[in-house]
Amino acid sequence: MSDSGAQRRPIVAGNWKMNTTIDEGLALVDALLPLIGSESAVDRVVCPPFISVQAISERLKGSEIGVGAQNLYFEAKGAFTGETSAAMLAGLVTYVIVGHSERRHVFGESDVVVKKKVWAALGAGLTPILCVGETLAERDAGETEMVLRRQVRSALEGLTDTAGLVIAYEPVWAIGTGRAATSADANAGNAIVRDELAQVLGQDVAAATRIQYGGSVTPANAVELLGQPDIDGALVGGASLVADSFAAIVKAAATA
Ligand code: PEP
Repeated sequence: MSDSGAQRRPIVAGNWKMNTTIDEGLALVDALLPLIGSESAVDRVVCPPFISVQAISERLKGSEIGVGAQNLYFEAKGAFTGETSAAMLAGLVTYVIVGHSERRHVFGESDVVVKKKVWAALGAGLTPILCVGETLAERDAGETEMVLRRQVRSALEGLTDTAGLVIAYEPVWAIGTGRAATSADANAGNAIVRDELAQVLGQDVAAATRIQYGGSVTPANAVELLGQPDIDGALVGGASLVADSFAAIVKAAATA
């Protein structure tokens, strides 16, 4: 399944990962505001570390730049040392990244855990950015399509209200490596995700859902990647830490 994407507003989100102190994060959004504050053809989101979420949310209040968390825990509350619930994030952030490859592969999150997190986020009125993607070994074994379909189905099957859900296709081998997928491969991955979404939640949801590409997106490759019909924006790691670079990617999304 492929799609023109004409009806989907692009969304570019910056995943700051474990970078920036509170002051550094505030300086970064202060630099971003004049660059992308009024780029209203694109949804713009920053996802700072938990420790900075409140300060960044306050600084961005009244602006059009949204804030997301990088993770959450699916339980509502209790003896889960170090974790943060969806209810704790609600009101502070609009978005939450779920199932990022570093959560899956560094911290061992399974498909079952990712599903619980997506459902917990939606239950608290947050918009999940669900990350899916194959490892290099899976790609080399010809398993990309199977992995993407499994991850999408596992996280979303049974949902009745997706409330603006965003999905990011992020090939694990492209994240933080400087080796982005080709625009054709990235678009093909997104098209598989959209096709599985249609099978799991129906054509209308599939046509309306924004599917980002993530993995070494930079100002140099953004125009080409974001111009693909099934790519509705980007999830950006390294380049989101430099205001000019993130702004250039947002502008690429606006013109794509
Ligand atoms: C990411 O963290 O989701 C990501 C895509 O990182 P990078 O842009 O650095 O590859």
